[in-house]
Amino acid sequence: MPHLGFRLRVALFFVATIIAVQALTAGLGYEVARRELVRQGGAQLEANSNAFVAQMDDIATRVASSVQILSQDYGLRSAIGEQDHGTVLSILRNHGRRVGATRMQLVGLDGKVQADTAHAGAAAVPFARATLLQGAFDGRKAAVVAENGAVFWQVVVPIYAPQPAGLVVASVPIDDKLLSHMQELSTLPRDVEMMTRPAGKPWSVVAHGGGEARLPPGFFAGNDHFPDAPVLAQSGGREYLVLARSFPQAAGDPEVAAVLGYSLDEALRPYRSVWLTWAGLLVLGLVLGVLSSLLIARSVSRPVEALAAAARRIEAGDYRAPEGMRRNDEIGQLATSFQAMTVAIGQREERIREQALHDAVTGLPNRVASQAAIERPRATSEATLVMLGITRLPDIIKTVGHALGDRLMHDAGRRLSDLAGSRFVGRVSDTQFVLWLPDAGRTRATELASRLLDALGRPFVEGDFSIDMGPAIGIACAPGDGEDAATLLRHAEVAQFAAAGSARGLAFYDAATDPHRPDRLSLMGDLREAIDQGQLTLHYQPKLDLSSGRVMAAEALIRWQHPRRGLVPPDAFIGVAEETGNIGRLTRWVVNDALARARRWTEAGHPINIAVNLSARDLEDPDLTRRIGDLTAIHGVPTSILPLEVTESAVIADPARALQELRRLADLGFKIAVDDFGVGRSSFAYLRQMPIHELKIDKTFIRNLASDEGDRVVVRSIVDLSHRLGLRVTAEGAEDAAALDYLREVGCDCAQGYQIAAAMPALAFAERFLVDGPTT
Ligand code: C2E
Ligand code: CA
Ligand code: CA
Repeated sequence: MPHLGFRLRVALFFVATIIAVQALTAGLGYEVARRELVRQGGAQLEANSNAFVAQMDDIATRVASSVQILSQDYGLRSAIGEQDHGTVLSILRNHGRRVGATRMQLVGLDGKVQADTAHAGAAAVPFARATLLQGAFDGRKAAVVAENGAVFWQVVVPIYAPQPAGLVVASVPIDDKLLSHMQELSTLPRDVEMMTRPAGKPWSVVAHGGGEARLPPGFFAGNDHFPDAPVLAQSGGREYLVLARSFPQAAGDPEVAAVLGYSLDEALRPYRSVWLTWAGLLVLGLVLGVLSSLLIARSVSRPVEALAAAARRIEAGDYRAPEGMRRNDEIGQLATSFQAMTVAIGQREERIREQALHDAVTGLPNRVASQAAIERPRATSEATLVMLGITRLPDIIKTVGHALGDRLMHDAGRRLSDLAGSRFVGRVSDTQFVLWLPDAGRTRATELASRLLDALGRPFVEGDFSIDMGPAIGIACAPGDGEDAATLLRHAEVAQFAAAGSARGLAFYDAATDPHRPDRLSLMGDLREAIDQGQLTLHYQPKLDLSSGRVMAAEALIRWQHPRRGLVPPDAFIGVAEETGNIGRLTRWVVNDALARARRWTEAGHPINIAVNLSARDLEDPDLTRRIGDLTAIHGVPTSILPLEVTESAVIADPARALQELRRLADLGFKIAVDDFGVGRSSFAYLRQMPIHELKIDKTFIRNLASDEGDRVVVRSIVDLSHRLGLRVTAEGAEDAAALDYLREVGCDCAQGYQIAAAMPALAFAERFLVDGPTT
């Protein structure tokens, strides 16, 4: 079934109901009226037929008494006596005209017709109905007679003179005229017909009242009995109530009957206007019904449709309440609840969205919201993403708990927002905030970043606690460092990690050192093979003893001769090795190779120290000391020949463990050097606890010694303090003679740098610095 709209269904239901009720009423009304008409018509017909018979009898009686007067007529009696045939005929004619008879006959006592107005000159013939003649003397004087297709009252009256002298027979026709006349005078129905049935023939109509013969002649054909009570009959498509009355007649004569009809159709005619009115009312009712049902349906369906539309809007995220529903009915109540619901859903969604897009601790937009804010089209081509990391947060939480950690982050967020002004600030992870500068380049970002570092450099104070936040800022610039939010966030984070390990606490993203560069990923897979297949090699950089001016030691620096990439520098794969768990194998390979080299050079008469670098991860390996110790034993060289370089950050990650490991190494006789000194956070107080032998000042302080007064002060102080603590000092990155001069001046023990020589293959190193010549 096709889908019908609500309105159409209501309208159809109304129409169907109206038609059904009306049809039932009409049918019932018609049936009741018809039954009543049949009942009344039957009664009327019966009364009419009785009246008709009575009238007919009246006619017979009237004719009889009139003919009786004639029989007293002296003229007639004397004319009969004188056998004056002409006079008799003339008197009979005159008299016949008076009583309405069309035929008068004089019958003799012998039963023969002596005079007949219908046959003036005819010879005497016996009268046909002898019984009628005899009856005339007994008092029975009349009979209905059918003759030659017509019907007559035949009335017989005897003539006395004074003895019986004959009989007068008057024939009064019961014809159309008589019947019409009777209808005019009385209440006879319109349909009255006289019928006769000559022996052996069917019934035929011989006379009928006003109008034409309409009652069915064949009606009685099959019936031997007259219907003497009213019956229903069909004729010419019409319906009649029909009743028949028979008349007395002489023996042997054809039967004669009067049939009275009562037309039901005609009787129902007055009701026709009622039917018409009813039909009109039906049509009117239908029109009104359809209209009103459409209106009612509309008044119901309109608001429902409006509510449905509002529901669809809600689905699409539009929470405006549906309008125009000020009604007091159930639909109005529904609309009111619907409105309340809409508002509530809208508020709840607003709240959920707020929660979904904001950080609960600081109230700042979270990572998702930040990403959306960064994604927004920029006003200028230059934009900068500043990421601020509170790098010490995990340690702080471990020490003082989450509640204080949260308050600290809240405070950090506030300081950041204060400085940011109208710029977007968000919290993108537990430890990191971002500041989005959609219209600032590198210079302005740096400016703002240093102010941020100042603001967050002040410790967080609460009660007795004063906590350093340890801020580090990474900066990524669009479009150079990325166009989309995800890339900018990732790169700013890389820079921020780099900043965390730097002296300034501020770094720009540098694709070259990005540990997440795609090509790094493929390196991971290749690294294991590299170790197995001997693609790694050690280069050696000389360490110049500044007091003697001789090269007494070297640092072993790893190189990877990659089959496709060529020579890969260590910065590009040491991190990968750490992340993939290959650093332990790599370190063992380096130590083993360096020891083999040291042994060969020692055997050749050049017992020079070869320093190797340890990664922070190496210090987490509890077997490190044993393994390195075993290797030195295998190669049969003293442990002191292999100084171990460790960065400050490697120790700071887990100081207790690192210290324990370093002590065990020192106990075995290994010398420990602190690499990249100055960029980390360790203090001399801290260094004092460590079993170290040497400090290597980071190259950032050495490179600009010639020009930078500040660096010169720093280097001089480090050298002084180190010596006081009994440590040797090596300066890395000496790139010019001025630097070397200054280092010598302040009493630095050793120097490394391009001014002396860059790292080089073992053979080259031996040729250049082991003056007795190459050993291999
Ligand atoms: P590092 O230990 O600080 O090594 C010194 C780095 O400075 C070397 O880079 C060296 O080539 C470079 N250098 C030497 N003189 C100068 C100079 O005058 N100016 C400048 N600007 N640079 C100079 P390299 O060989 O690329 O090594 C980079 C880093 O890779 C090393 O820094 C070290 O941390 C790491 N590394 C190297 N070999 C190994 C290794 O065998 N094991 C581990 N764990 N790390 C290693
Ligand atoms: Ca080093
Ligand atoms: Ca270094």
